[in-house]
Amino acid sequence: MSNSEKLHARRSAAVARGIGSTITSYVERASGGTITDVDGREWIDFAAGIAVTSVGNAAPMVVAAVREQVERFTHTCFMVAPYESYVAVCEQLNELTPGSFEKRSALFNSGAEAVENAVKIARYATGRSAVVVFDHGYHGRTNLTMALTAKVMPYKQGFGPFAPEIYRAPMSYALRDGGLDGKTAASRAIDMISSQIGAANVAAIVIEPIQGEGGFIVPAPGFLSALAEWARANGVVFIADEIQTGFCRTGDWFASEHERIEPDLITTAKGIAGGLPLAGVTGRAELMDSVHVGGLGGTYGGNPIACAAALASIDTMRAHNLAGAARRIGSVITDRLSLLAARHPEIAEVRGRGAMIAVELVEPGTINPNPTVTAAINRACHEAGLLTLTCGTYGNVFRFLPPLVMDDETLNRGLDILDSAFARVLA
Ligand SMILES: *Cc1c(COP(=O)(O)O)cnc(C)c1O
Repeated sequence: MSNSEKLHARRSAAVARGIGSTITSYVERASGGTITDVDGREWIDFAAGIAVTSVGNAAPMVVAAVREQVERFTHTCFMVAPYESYVAVCEQLNELTPGSFEKRSALFNSGAEAVENAVKIARYATGRSAVVVFDHGYHGRTNLTMALTAKVMPYKQGFGPFAPEIYRAPMSYALRDGGLDGKTAASRAIDMISSQIGAANVAAIVIEPIQGEGGFIVPAPGFLSALAEWARANGVVFIADEIQTGFCRTGDWFASEHERIEPDLITTAKGIAGGLPLAGVTGRAELMDSVHVGGLGGTYGGNPIACAAALASIDTMRAHNLAGAARRIGSVITDRLSLLAARHPEIAEVRGRGAMIAVELVEPGTINPNPTVTAAINRACHEAGLLTLTCGTYGNVFRFLPPLVMDDETLNRGLDILDSAFARVLA
């Protein structure tokens, strides 16, 4: 029995079945682009722990900052006895997020918690209750965020009833909406909102600037800006969920910058702290400060070790220009995938931005999703030591999320494996 098999046996007897894992190998250590398992096998990491370890795993500056902090103090609770690093992370968030207006931030533990709090703030500030989300959207697994999330399996099945006053509008998804331009797709969503909910009842629109779990869906140009404009005109809080897209992943600090939109609130998590659990809500001071003292918080939110890791991650992103690195990685991946797409009619589309790139697989000559082939290629990649992830409402999208510090040699070795996996499965 391999070491991983032994661990797997222990896991099956101890860990709840509802927690899944992409691979059956167990991790010994990880770096800026590879993972070594407990049997000494090396994996090329195209997952980054779901877009989390953008600065690399165990990144040197993060390790040093965490060490320094863990020896000074591990927790006081910011709501009990505050400390500087929490304030410093909020200052960084206020500075780095789009929007030239006065901002405030609040820190939490997970992406779902950040989204929940953004909705709380928007409802409080507007006195309205309805929240608009989009087809294929993903916002988390807590009760409110399950309601905000579109896909039933595996996220919602059997876990209802869900929170009320959540409404789902059509997304802009060129491959599957007949190629509607952004303005037209936005009008379609706005018509639905106006006729079925009423603008005056809407507290917030919550949208991922590029959808993550839903399939790396990039809305047509003009879609987000038209929605943001409508929200502003109607007193609706525009919340950009940048939990997956934020912190250099798409080649800018935040994906909202690409369309020059200035969201009223932005939620962040994943890439923010080099793997430590931290999340934030950042936005207009008048919205954030509308809530009474004590109305926001949590025992662990903005934990000092996570804050130290975030400050070191942000320093690393600046020092190594990881936004630029994301654009470079993206162009290497896109070039290789385009060659692949020319050979394999199963690839309907290569899309994404920066180091957030995906291919959507279909039955050749149609747009019918092809989850079977997607799963087979995914397995072939894993067998050959490349850690890949799938996503998409129909489970037919391959997504590539390497750490932004991955070197070109490792990246190309990973893409070679992918290339062979396609050839093997589709031969
Ligand atoms: C991952 C993700 C979340 C949820 O974050 P958790 O930390 O898993 O709670 C919310 N929104 C988006 C866009 C995400 O990608």
